Amino acid sequence: MLDTEQLRASIRTVPDFPKPGIQFRDISTLLANPAALHTSVTLLAREVRSSGATLVAGMEARGFIFGAAVAIEAGVGFVPIRKPGKLPVETIGVDYALEYGSDRLEIDPGAIDPGDKVALVDDLIATGGTALAATQLVRMTSADVATALFVVDLPDLGGATRLRNAGISVTSLLSFE
Ligand code: IMP
Repeated sequence: MLDTEQLRASIRTVPDFPKPGIQFRDISTLLANPAALHTSVTLLAREVRSSGATLVAGMEARGFIFGAAVAIEAGVGFVPIRKPGKLPVETIGVDYALEYGSDRLEIDPGAIDPGDKVALVDDLIATGGTALAATQLVRMTSADVATALFVVDLPDLGGATRLRNAGISVTSLLSFE
């Protein structure tokens, strides 16, 4: 297991991506580092277990990578929260604003039972728009959001605070001011 500083060092910062002035926190380098990947998945799975979540839901696309691994480690199932037009069934969807534009998320409502307690997993929380949209979707199925888990928080953008204000417990492994 890596400590927090070692985990932090596994993340690459790319200046001016996708636009000038943005410091993009790139988790590709963490994924390619076996100790960092193992540490991230182990720590997030611990949070899933202690939250009592019965299901992990991951946001497309990087939330799929962490979410599926975390679900396996925690012994629960995984539900993909998808970009529009990808699911082959009738979906429910929510439009939302994100840091670099706007988007929409959809789920298969049949994939979540009304009694499920869902742990949301994504690589990073910035403004919280994505996670709040995912929360709205889960709540539309009458399931509960047990917790929201991220590898990286950008606290200056206020997303974790917005989620906590919506009544959701939030855990991030690292924060980048
Ligand atoms: P939010 O909706 O503003 O919280 O943005 C979070 C979403 O945008 C997540 O799905 C992230 O993958 C992506 N994102 C925003 N900023 C970054 C970044 O600096 N690095 C990697 N992903 C980012």
